[in-house]
Amino acid sequence: MAHRTVAICDGKYIGIESIYTVINGHQINIPDRLKNLREKSRNNKLFCPCGCGANLILVAGDKNLREQHFRIKDGTYNNNCRVHFFNQLFP
Ligand SMILES: [Zn+2]
Repeated sequence: MAHRTVAICDGKYIGIESIYTVINGHQINIPDRLKNLREKSRNNKLFCPCGCGANLILVAGDKNLREQHFRIKDGTYNNNCRVHFFNQLFP
């Protein structure tokens, strides 16, 4: 499954690219933005962009070793999730 790159936060779409900048081909996290989004993640403020209500978790390592993305919080997957359709609309 493709990595999720969009979440809904406070009623707005947030793209994962908002937390990093690209330097020499590396996606380098912007500390303030990362901290901010991580807090929202911890407080269950991030949701699936399809509107199914599933909580999303921010996945982003401090050392920039992993590609930043969102994933569904364990146990909150909703069978009504239509994120696959959403990803086709906003690849
Ligand atoms: Zn969904």
